[in-house]
Amino acid sequence: MKIAFIGLGNMGGPMALNLLKAGHSLSAFDLSADACKKFGAEGLPIANSAAETVSDAEVVISMLPASAHVEGLYLGGVGKPGLLDSIRAGTLVIDSSTIAAATSRKVAEAAEAKGIAMIDAPVSGGTGGAIAGTLTFMVGGEAGDLERARPVLEKMGANIFHAGAVGAGQTAKICNNMLLGILMIGTSEALALGVANGLDPKVLSEIMRRSSGGNWALEKYNPMPGVMETSPASKNYAGGFGTDLMLKDLGLAQENASAVRAATPLGGLARSLYAAHSLAGHGALDFSSVLKLVQKAS
Ligand code: NAD
Repeated sequence: MKIAFIGLGNMGGPMALNLLKAGHSLSAFDLSADACKKFGAEGLPIANSAAETVSDAEVVISMLPASAHVEGLYLGGVGKPGLLDSIRAGTLVIDSSTIAAATSRKVAEAAEAKGIAMIDAPVSGGTGGAIAGTLTFMVGGEAGDLERARPVLEKMGANIFHAGAVGAGQTAKICNNMLLGILMIGTSEALALGVANGLDPKVLSEIMRRSSGGNWALEKYNPMPGVMETSPASKNYAGGFGTDLMLKDLGLAQENASAVRAATPLGGLARSLYAAHSLAGHGALDFSSVLKLVQKAS
């Protein structure tokens, strides 16, 4: 299949490489010259622009930071045409970025008016899941469009869920990430408390992992440096899922909660704590660096 892939960041780059390995014909682009250089060196065919990637694409995939990037890419701005003007009718567009459900609906409606099918398919599983091709996709859109996308999504993920109509994938994703943001802070607090009492963080992590406090952070993404070789914490919190991206997702959760009058007190507190952490200069570090907020200075 001919696939255009736009956005070669921590997630998009490895996802595109998995499609290439599966034998699809790729054309990729990122605004960052460094990202293009990095993934071009790994074998991804790099185009000169997003418009060039879609010229003969059957499927277009985007993996961008936030709502403004997705809206800007597909709909354009003042004096700047959107990518929808370059995509052929009948093409399937899969947006895997985590963005506001309302933006997914707005862009999908504009796509539909041009005869282009669009689904939102945000992911969970982190950069490890993107590299291993074991992501979880949460899809919003028509069931028939999901079936068209399935053979492509299967090459990048292990679990594919149909959450509902366009935008529903985004709603599922922000519910999940609100929980993740809260549990990373809770896990950090518990580890910092144990260490302040002289416990070995590796031993404490293993005790909690196998006890009732066990969770995804302890299983796969320990926030304490040195406990888990593969976690961003052991690489000075480089790569992974940026604090500012988590802050964005918790903001989306709070906006959504306001719209439906849901009570999300811990989600609100978590958003404030990540905001403070970002203001302290840690926005580009992996979100598990929130441990620094509760860790005793050494
Ligand atoms: P990232 O910041 O590493 O990468 C985003 C890339 O998009 C950058 O390389 C940037 O240059 C590029 N970009 C921005 N606007 C563009 C445009 N108009 N055209 C082409 N390229 C453009 O982000 P990421 O960590 O890869 O995350 C991408 C999305 O996936 C975000 O919405 C994030 O919330 C979500 N997500 C991330 C993770 C994770 O662990 N990193 C996990 C699940 C979901």
